[in-house]
Amino acid sequence: MKLFSRNRTRERNRHPLPEEKAAAENIELHELKVGTTTIPYSVRFSRRACRRRIVVRPGKVEIVAPLGDRESELHRLIDERRQWIFSKLEVLKDRTDRLHALTSYALRNGTKIPYRGRLLSLEIHPTEKKDIGIEYRTGFRVYRPAGAADEELRNEFDMWLRDRLLADAVPLVRRYSILLDVKPGRISIRDMKTRWGSCGGRGDLSFNLKLIHLPRDLTEYVVAHELCHLRHRDHSRRFWDLLDSVLPARIPRHRRIEGCLLQAGLSDESIRNHLVVPMVSRH
Ligand SMILES: [Zn+2]
Repeated sequence: MKLFSRNRTRERNRHPLPEEKAAAENIELHELKVGTTTIPYSVRFSRRACRRRIVVRPGKVEIVAPLGDRESELHRLIDERRQWIFSKLEVLKDRTDRLHALTSYALRNGTKIPYRGRLLSLEIHPTEKKDIGIEYRTGFRVYRPAGAADEELRNEFDMWLRDRLLADAVPLVRRYSILLDVKPGRISIRDMKTRWGSCGGRGDLSFNLKLIHLPRDLTEYVVAHELCHLRHRDHSRRFWDLLDSVLPARIPRHRRIEGCLLQAGLSDESIRNHLVVPMVSRH
């Protein structure tokens, strides 16, 4: 552990539409019809792909194939799998909506906010002071100076949540680093769109800000998971055995974590692959 970095601003940038992205990257978009629904998809040839795979992400379908593969075969494969693609998109939309619901609360009096796995009430009080104040006892108290905009309030609240998650993560990183005999790099908390956590090449760790809304055991699971990647970079048997060997009994193993995550709209599959939403199918 070296430095702690914090990203002060919430990611508010709009995601480009698939058509815009495709145009920017010069990718040709094709269309698939399922009943009355039209689903755009793209075809990508990759030097690194050794076989065909269909990747379904919210609002995006892509077929990746090895260089030299026949494009007509790929369109046929997509067509064959259209029902599967349609149902995956529906599941992903539902999951994305539920995940979005975790953080889409408005900061108003009486709002319930999920925090470390519990729903807590928020009270907003006016203050004469210049700065926004935040307190936490059995619920949240936000002190709002006259003239403070909603966005300022939200940014300050997110910063506060970030600090709480960092305070949860740091001792966990320390404990599991000792258990696993590994030396992690920097720790950062980020509002990541597609991952719960990540472990960079130099051992820098990032954790998703949304973890602060989930039970602490899940944060511990993600911390232990990422630190195990400092010993095994893959998801091999050795990786899972190592993770199992360090997690205490009260932490759900990856097979049993499903129940907790489903409440938050997430799946076992998503946490195993550290992905918040994407699904991948190989052919
Ligand atoms: Zn992993």
